Amino acid sequence: MIEFACHCGAARLGAPEAPTEVSECNCSICRRLGARWAYYRPSEVTLPAPQSTQPYVWGDRMLAFHRCRSCGITTHWQSLDGSRDRMAVNARLIDGLDLGAVRIRQFDGADTWRYLDED
Ligand SMILES: [Zn+2]
Repeated sequence: MIEFACHCGAARLGAPEAPTEVSECNCSICRRLGARWAYYRPSEVTLPAPQSTQPYVWGDRMLAFHRCRSCGITTHWQSLDGSRDRMAVNARLIDGLDLGAVRIRQFDGADTWRYLDED
C-alpha cells in the first residue's frame, strides 16, 4: 500500500503499489498544475473523505479534478461518466518517492492525445 497525502494531510489516498511510470501532460490544466499522474483502476484506489476535497469540472464535464479544501493541493482526477476504467493520482503527493527512478512520460493532452515518446 502506498499513500498519497496533500500538504496539510486532510486529503489522503491509497493505492496498492507505487507507480513505476508517471505522466506529465501539456493540456491547459495539467501544465498549470505541474502534476505527475500515476494511473490506477478506480476500484483499487482508496479515496479521501468526500468533504476533504473540492472538485473542479469544466468544458465537456468528463473529468473532475480534486483539490484539498484546506491546503489547495491537487490530489487526483476521476472520470465523471464512468466510461473509463482509470483515474489518476498526483504522484508528487507520495512522500519519499524517487522520481529519478520512475519513468516520466510526456503526454500530449493539448493536441494529439498521444505519448510524445511513442512512434
Ligand atoms: Zn490539504
